[in-house]
Amino acid sequence: MFDIALVGSGGMMPLAHRHLSSAMLRYEGRMVLIDCGEGTQVSAKQLGWGFKTIDCICLTHFHADHIMGLPGLLLTIGHAGREESLTIIGPVGVARIVQSICIVASDLPFKVNFVEVPPGGFKGFKIPFTSYILSAHPAFHRCPCFAYRIDIERKGKFDAAAAKELGLPVRFWNKLQKGEVVEHESQTFTPDMVMGEQRRGLSMAYCTDSRPPKGLPEFVSGVDLLICEGQYGDPAKLPNAKAYKHMMFSEAATIARAGNVGKMWLTHFSPSLQNPKEYLKNARDIFPKSYVGFDRKTESFVFEED
Ligand SMILES: [Zn+2]
Ligand SMILES: [Zn+2]
Repeated sequence: MFDIALVGSGGMMPLAHRHLSSAMLRYEGRMVLIDCGEGTQVSAKQLGWGFKTIDCICLTHFHADHIMGLPGLLLTIGHAGREESLTIIGPVGVARIVQSICIVASDLPFKVNFVEVPPGGFKGFKIPFTSYILSAHPAFHRCPCFAYRIDIERKGKFDAAAAKELGLPVRFWNKLQKGEVVEHESQTFTPDMVMGEQRRGLSMAYCTDSRPPKGLPEFVSGVDLLICEGQYGDPAKLPNAKAYKHMMFSEAATIARAGNVGKMWLTHFSPSLQNPKEYLKNARDIFPKSYVGFDRKTESFVFEED
């Protein structure tokens, strides 16, 4: 089960009823947080997934509404008893920025490892302690910013008949299933001899803050869930979206359609957008599986039946 929660759904500043944009992912008990604005830990507390197994925090960019919750959150993770190292990923300069704002959160009981995303993004980073494979793609904002994609891969089916035919004793089967090579009676057995083709995994992508970035539909292609910013729903606000490098509902929907994603949740609403549902039609006319995100909106995704 791959659980995804929108911890907050607002942009710029927290509102009484809307925390700042952030997402939390959980699979096999291990968690990743994407962005951490002021108040993120309050909403995460209400979500109730705990803090100790947050293994990685991905930062889209260094605007305050995406990072100022870090000192408090890191302290809370420490209070939850974490001792294993934690990875923080973000644009170039991530260590300097995070260390600067976290000077008020010293003596953490765990080590923080920083990973910089190069300007062109990256693919296939395995997040420590987890099964998540992370990729990053450049967004188009007023400062360096990245969209993230998380994949959970799924191995092929084990072919017991093939293993029997090879004459390999049952006690070695598990090793091959785990991807290990087995040497037995001077013969070499490799996983591909008994494992079927890789099956469809689970995936999600997260994009905020940005004008529609080049190549994003390809980057998010086929994900089960795209969480995408829709700072404005009203078409009259397009000049603002262009000036401040944000997206309209309709632009997010165009990306979701072109990327053929399973569904899309809109997030990062302007404080001026009191009722995003009023404009949902502007997204649904383009991509029918568009939904308005809200704080602690949660969904669980499972592997397809074989
Ligand atoms: Zn923002
Ligand atoms: Zn921003």
